[in-house]
Amino acid sequence: MHLNPYGEYAVLLAASLANDWPADRDGIVSRTRDFGMTMDFPEEPGDHARLRVALDEWLDVVDTADGPSRARLLNRIMADEAAYPHLTDHDGEGWHLHYRDDDKGLPSTLRAVFAVGTALHLTTRGMHRLSRCAAGTDVDGECRNVVVDVSRNGTQKYCSVRCANRAAVRRHRAARR
Ligand SMILES: [Zn+2]
Ligand SMILES: [Zn+2]
Repeated sequence: MHLNPYGEYAVLLAASLANDWPADRDGIVSRTRDFGMTMDFPEEPGDHARLRVALDEWLDVVDTADGPSRARLLNRIMADEAAYPHLTDHDGEGWHLHYRDDDKGLPSTLRAVFAVGTALHLTTRGMHRLSRCAAGTDVDGECRNVVVDVSRNGTQKYCSVRCANRAAVRRHRAARR
């Protein structure tokens, strides 16, 4: 797994899983491949349910808006799951850092990857750059998708063009009334 300097892959993977939760473990593994993870993990019974718990814990971070509370949640997860960074070159990826032990299963690994990636993302881009889609809060509560704001100027509020357009139409109608 490459965690780039902004933690972008990891936090986008977590958001992708939250916005479109796979029905089984294979679906989760294939999603990790889509986001650039190459490692194989031995399958354990209960992996799918434990991954859901890890994701729900990450969603608590999303739904906690203030910086100090976010930091507290992330620090607790990292204290549980993260390890000294170490250099690795598995699967021909080239040398990169892992922030967890390599003998953990998939749920523990993703728990660490989500937390470290999110911590890197928030500290490098800004503590507020993770939220639910503004179409849910501004408009009528229709969209609960997670938005990872990786925009250059930090103004990404909607999960999709569709949600942004829908909100714009509603604002326009409201202004005319
Ligand atoms: Zn790796
Ligand atoms: Zn949305």
